[in-house]
Amino acid sequence: MKKILIVHTGGTISMKEDRLTGEVSVTDSHPLENLGGSSFEQRIEEDFLYNLPSPHITPYHMINLAKHMKEKIQTNNYSGIVVTHGTDTLEETAYFLDLYLQATIPIVITGAMRSSNEIGSDGLYNLLSAIKVVSTHDSVDKGVLVVMNDEIHTAKYVTKTSTSNVATFQSPQFGPIGIITKQSVHFYQKLITDEVYPVSNLTKKVALIKTYAGMESTLIEAIYQSGIDGLIIEGLGQGNVPETLVKPLETMLNNNVPIVLVSRCFKGIVQPTYSYNGGGKQLKDMGVIFTNGLTGPKARIKLLIALEITQNIYELQRIFDL
Ligand code: ASP
Repeated sequence: MKKILIVHTGGTISMKEDRLTGEVSVTDSHPLENLGGSSFEQRIEEDFLYNLPSPHITPYHMINLAKHMKEKIQTNNYSGIVVTHGTDTLEETAYFLDLYLQATIPIVITGAMRSSNEIGSDGLYNLLSAIKVVSTHDSVDKGVLVVMNDEIHTAKYVTKTSTSNVATFQSPQFGPIGIITKQSVHFYQKLITDEVYPVSNLTKKVALIKTYAGMESTLIEAIYQSGIDGLIIEGLGQGNVPETLVKPLETMLNNNVPIVLVSRCFKGIVQPTYSYNGGGKQLKDMGVIFTNGLTGPKARIKLLIALEITQNIYELQRIFDL
């Protein structure tokens, strides 16, 4: 009989609402307890690794989770793994797992927007959908997947788009790669890149900053002085920054602190198009690393990993070209 592992890490899917105050908080409830004894075609094993709201998740928790999963895969005969997680930082953990694990079995991460005892709670439903997805052979070789609200998304492109709507997880660039119906699981697309970086630790400090009209240089200067190993800058449009930022960014580059550029637009990729002061062409010539459609938080996860492998700007650029 097939064996599926569920690793719980916390989040709303493991929380309950106080009927009087409406407050939602961490409990020791677990999502499958509401199933009332319904049986599965597979054997289900559950691991309660953390019980954390996802704003408390750090890169340390991500690598610890990834190592835990790797060890479980190596020492057991699981046919798939489901991870439950708070939705706020789910996309970061999903992308970390995607970059770290050379998964030979389906891995799906899911969560909930409504806690377990709320009307219209989506936790149990999403968990059952996730189990359905890891149970199908079609999910092999698709990377780490995010399953929420009857859709299957790639860890690389999915993002939380609404603060409270159950249809919050979207992949703005290309849409979901599959859907889940009552009867079955259907895939329509697959990513063409496959990257794996099994680093042993995450030791670097990488900051993420968003640009805005009239931005002063002080924030960048303060971040640099705080002692960081790398910076993700969420530029404007195709990848431009206010001209006030050019000097402090140049200082960072001259001191070997890599800078990775993403756009604050939620679609498209950054390009060295504009040659004016602060334009993408100037940033490229300065040695800023360009990304290929990642969001700021995902680029940060990738730089945290990449800096464990190399500090060389050209090698870093090659990693971010993928
Ligand atoms: N704030 C919660 C968390 O990320 C939201 C959720 O789980 O959906 O833990």
